Amino acid sequence: MKVLAVGCHPDDVEIGCSGTLIKCVKRGDEVMVCHVANGDMGHAIIMPPELREIRIGEAKKAGSLAGIKVTTLDIGDLMPNAAIQEQRDKMVKLLKEFQPDFIITHAPNDYMPDHREVSKLVFDASFAASVPHYGAEGSAAVTPIFYMDNLAGTNTIPTEYVDITDEIDLKLQMLECHESQLKWMRDHDHIDFAEFVKSCSRFRGIQASCGYAEGYTQELSWPRITTKRLLP
Ligand SMILES: [Zn+2]
Repeated sequence: MKVLAVGCHPDDVEIGCSGTLIKCVKRGDEVMVCHVANGDMGHAIIMPPELREIRIGEAKKAGSLAGIKVTTLDIGDLMPNAAIQEQRDKMVKLLKEFQPDFIITHAPNDYMPDHREVSKLVFDASFAASVPHYGAEGSAAVTPIFYMDNLAGTNTIPTEYVDITDEIDLKLQMLECHESQLKWMRDHDHIDFAEFVKSCSRFRGIQASCGYAEGYTQELSWPRITTKRLLP
């Protein structure tokens, strides 16, 4: 199967669904990660052009640890907007080229406006990509979409869980690749974000009677429903 995970910023996929993506690779899936924004505003001192380079590199390094290809739409932070045709067309092009069997992205009710825009951008583009005469050449199926957990598990009750007990260590290694974020938060905000993410995974694991888990809700609009279990 081909699995596309679309996060807003470099690190969102590691936080929300990297354990699942590692499992997908293990079962033989081809996995692609796309971060829509380039993360250029994610630091108080490092200036945006330099940070953009750093964060694109950190995301690539994280993906390489798990055999995952990483790409970006390279849109500036705070700029994702599903109503901008240029952004939708970039996502349509990616979908037509990669031909995913299902997509993982942010939930429509996540805490950050950029994340909500990306959720809508994926939903809209995934429909538009099915139209042969729209945008890039060819067409892609209207696929199932799974929404990854909101940050801190708030505002959502998962309906599907993936046991990531065997993948939690690599998930955290992937997260640690985002040094510009984690080190800054440790040094200046006294927040251990790796511990934060591990605790959330443990909490979902308790709910699903396993060690660590990632939770999802599924987009249930027609024709995205399937009788098959797609998540690993
Ligand atoms: Zn984010």
